[in-house]
Amino acid sequence: MNYDKIMEEIRTFCEDRDWRQFHNPKDLASALSIEASELQEIYLWKNPAEVDDVSKKKRDQIEQEIADIAIYLLDLVDVLDIDLEKVIQEKLEQNRKKYPVEDAKGKNLKYDEL
Ligand SMILES: [Mg+2]
Repeated sequence: MNYDKIMEEIRTFCEDRDWRQFHNPKDLASALSIEASELQEIYLWKNPAEVDDVSKKKRDQIEQEIADIAIYLLDLVDVLDIDLEKVIQEKLEQNRKKYPVEDAKGKNLKYDEL
């Protein structure tokens, strides 16, 4: 993915429609959560076997929701002037300390239960 190109396309899409005035951090955070819920809704009440089936049958819809989530996330990152690569690397470093391989490998426990 060309991060700078995608960011520029999202910026241009919003500016062409004069939507920046609506894209404040609070509403972008809400939109991000709503889109994540739309993704969850696709899988709602499905048992593990059905989840695999839905993942195949509703692939297009899942891709659309993932794109919505990514667009709102990147828009929020842009509006807040966040260095996404830097914060991801910092968070991964925190998570490496919270979940050392020797303690966490193969376990689905929260860090305070390891
Ligand atoms: Mg959506």
